[in-house]
Amino acid sequence: MYHALSQTGCTILPVNDFRRVPENVAILRDMRATVLLAMPSELYPMVDHMEAHRLHFPDVELIVTGGEPLPEQLRDRLNGVFGPAVKFGSTFQTADLGTIGYQCEHCAPSEYHVHEEIQYVQVEEVDGEPELVVTNLDRFLMPALRLRSGDRAAFVDDGQPCACGRTSRRLALLGRTGAVVKIGGEKVPTAGILRLPVAIGVNEHRVRIEITRSASGRDRLTVRSDEILEQGRENAALSHLLAEPKLAQMVREGRCDRIRFEGSSDACRNPPGSGKNRVLVDLRT
Ligand SMILES: [Zn+2]
Repeated sequence: MYHALSQTGCTILPVNDFRRVPENVAILRDMRATVLLAMPSELYPMVDHMEAHRLHFPDVELIVTGGEPLPEQLRDRLNGVFGPAVKFGSTFQTADLGTIGYQCEHCAPSEYHVHEEIQYVQVEEVDGEPELVVTNLDRFLMPALRLRSGDRAAFVDDGQPCACGRTSRRLALLGRTGAVVKIGGEKVPTAGILRLPVAIGVNEHRVRIEITRSASGRDRLTVRSDEILEQGRENAALSHLLAEPKLAQMVREGRCDRIRFEGSSDACRNPPGSGKNRVLVDLRT
């Protein structure tokens, strides 16, 4: 992508460390950057800083994200600091497969044009779910052949060209496959659990729900969030979580511990691995 951008004649300012927030914000301001390219998780520290210092940069016109979905809450906050007119775009890529899709101005938030010249994309029924299966067309050394991406997807073009004029196929991403977690020996859907921060209006980057095993061997859910404790939102959070019937059943039948609330840990502030935002973390071994 950077190679392609360099061909357009634009100036690229690589940010080595997204945690050096004041420095990055100063660069953004002094160079009057017009486009941001980032993984959503990397934008939280900057938005926190800009909100705290009431900074607004109207020069930024477009924010392109990739690597993970852009949460609605973060999108609203970005609109707050960069203005309501800022546009959003997204690239769809995975570590194994490379870049699979891109968005034009007519694509809905989870829709992508397929890079048909470099990827052969199929949607197949796997375990009852429509899963994306991708083959690299241009890799010589280690191409991926019919690799399942783990995304539920559907074609949305009906064989018609897009309003932008491009004729490439268009995909809608519908979420990850197998979005369940085993708690108390049963499969519990995670969609409702993951919506907790948005549902009760707390910062999703400061909430972590951990699944551990108690000394007696029962599964245990611990919600770590200073914000929930400070605002006394435990009951609201509990009601939201127990609205998931399977989880409520596990708690009621004592097949998992009662849900606990604790303060944020350092681990919560510094998520492991790639730095992606993880609301739900399974720490059972
Ligand atoms: Zn289009």
